Parts: sequence; C-alpha cells; structure tokens
Amino acid sequence: MPKDIRPQPGILDITLYQGGDSSIAGQREAIKLSSNENPLGPSDRAVEAFRRAGHTLHRYPSSSHAALRAAIGGVYGLDPDRIICGAGSDEVISFLCQAYAGPGDEVLHTEHGFAMYRISALGAGATPVSVPERRRTVDVDAVLAACGARTRLVFIANPANPTGTMLDAATVARLADGVPAHTLLVLDGAYAEYADVPDGALELATARPNVMVTRTFSKIHGLGGLRVGWGHGPRAVIDVLNRLRGPFNLSTAQQDAAEAAILDREHLERCRTENARLRAWLTAGLREIGVPCDDSQANFVLARFDGAAEAEACDAHLKQCGLIVRRVGSYGLPGCLRITVGDEPACRRVVHAIAQFKGLR
Ligand SMILES: *Cc1c(COP(=O)(O)O)cnc(C)c1O
Repeated sequence: MPKDIRPQPGILDITLYQGGDSSIAGQREAIKLSSNENPLGPSDRAVEAFRRAGHTLHRYPSSSHAALRAAIGGVYGLDPDRIICGAGSDEVISFLCQAYAGPGDEVLHTEHGFAMYRISALGAGATPVSVPERRRTVDVDAVLAACGARTRLVFIANPANPTGTMLDAATVARLADGVPAHTLLVLDGAYAEYADVPDGALELATARPNVMVTRTFSKIHGLGGLRVGWGHGPRAVIDVLNRLRGPFNLSTAQQDAAEAAILDREHLERCRTENARLRAWLTAGLREIGVPCDDSQANFVLARFDGAAEAEACDAHLKQCGLIVRRVGSYGLPGCLRITVGDEPACRRVVHAIAQFKGLR
C-alpha cells in the first residue's frame, strides 16, 4: 500500500460483495438458484423497449427520468416528484449513506441483513452496527433499543434477504413510530411484490418525514442485468439524494425497459402467482425430507442443516448435480443454504438432490 496515497477511513474495512456463483467448473448446463433471479425472465415488452433504445445510443438519456417516475407513480399511486431512480436500488442505498451518514455516525442493520447496507455505510465513513435478530426475524424492540443519538440510518429489508421472513404492517408501523426523529428508517422492498400481504411501507414513506422505501426491477421484474431501482420518500430527502445523483445515471435503455416492465402488470401477476405456488411446493418438499425452513415471503427459501459442515457437504452434492445455491455463512447463517425458487423442474431437481444427500433416495 503506498503510504502517501490513502483512501478515506472505512474503505479498507469493506469486504467485496460476493454475488451468487453462476457456473460450476466442468458443468455446462448448471441451474442457477443462487441470486434470486426470476426464472420467467423479464416482460417481452421490456426486452422490446431495450432493443428499440439501441437506435438512440448517440443521444444522452433523460436526466429527470420523468417518464419512468410517472409510470411508477401511476402504478403505486405515488407522487412522481417523490420518487428517485438509481442504477439498481444499490445506488439509492449508497446515496442514502453518502447523504446522511459520515464519520462518527451509526448505520443500523440487522444480524442477517443484506450485505450492501454495511458496505455502503463503510463507504460513507460511517459505522455499521449489527442488531441481533430473533429466530431469523428482525426484532423491532432490539432495533429500537439500539437507536441512539448517533444513529442516522436504519436499514430493514422486508421481506428480508437471506431469511425470507417478514414483519407485518402493524409491526413495521410500530418500528416507524419508534425510531427517533433524527433517524431515517429505510424499508428495502426488493421482494415486496412477492409477499402475500403488503407491509404498508409505501404509505409510511408517503406519510412520515423520516421513512424511505427502496424498490428494484432486479427481482420480480426479472431485470437484474438492467440495473434499475427506485426510492420513494419525503420530498426533502428525495431533493437531497438528487443532488448526489449523477445526471445521467440511467441510460435510455434502462429507463425505457424499466418503464415497459412496470406497466406490464400481467407479467408481474404471472410471476407472483407462479412463485407463490412453487415456493409453497419447495417449502413443503424440504420439510418432508427433514430439512426445516421458515415460511418465506420472497422468491427464495432458506434451508437449515445440522451445522456448517452439513450445509457445505450438501452444497457440494448439489453442485455435482448441476445445481447452484447460495451459501450464507457471511450472513451469520453457516448452517443454511439459500435456494431461489426456480421453475418447476428446477424445484423438483433441488428437492430430489437434497433427499439423495440425506440418504432418502
Ligand atoms: C437484490 C436485493 C436488492 C436489489 O439490488 P439491486 O441493486 O436493485 O439489484 C436490494 N436489497 C435486497 C435485500 C436485495 O436482496
């Protein structure tokens, strides 16, 4: 490390984000169930809009994202002026940390919370603070007890990744009621569309001066490769984030494809219904072969094994069967594997392979 050229404090504490594996050495037809991608893919209309944008590549994109924000606002009944769009919700999360947290400030996340909260907090020079969960579920009382004078941001994913568990609307409201006025509560709804019952987060972000919601096109819209996410919150917060946002952070292709995707409600409904059906099937299938898992409200299931060694051995067996799932030791869950709800053949294969591993088939 050159001793005169040094990064800001915190940066060297960041461990690189590890995405889900996407291939297995020596296997050509592996099935990827490690990144919570939508097995049905994106809306045809989104793909068509993306293609069309190829003809205007010489033009700078809209810097206001007005059409995309209007479409999102129309679908959810939100004021488009209170929506910000980013290169994935990751970018919105990063804006929030940059804008509201710095050296000496604390950014709260929970024990098994999404890795990007910690990375973005450190990137802003702030101190990430991990709050224990109860049985793989966010503990609202523990979160509120951990809020102090230095707490600037609280990040809660609902449904949560990688646990799939969810707080109900009353509990989320209790959390919003309890956070101090100087703390911005960020409700990350990356999997919100998959939940059986909404959690009221968007309404809270409309009504409260210190609640923000983030959403993404990466999950149910099947556009993880496109990199578009958005946030909704208090006008003053949106105004602050827009000052940090690069004017051309989203290309025309990104904006147009995302707009087409959010307007295709039929595709979304099909993805939601199919996920719910196969999530129930996968959950029941795992429990039947003696692999416990919580009820998931997302598009993945967290399978629990008898410790890290068994989880690792099962992961190795799945790899041999051409199935890629996600180890979640870095999320404090070394004895678990996170399995994305794939299409029906993938769900059947994964349960069959785990049963084989357990010596049942
Ligand atoms: C996948 C995911 C996101 C979305 O990230 P993008 O940058 O929008 O792709 C955000 N939060 C959680 C908890 C996630 O799992």
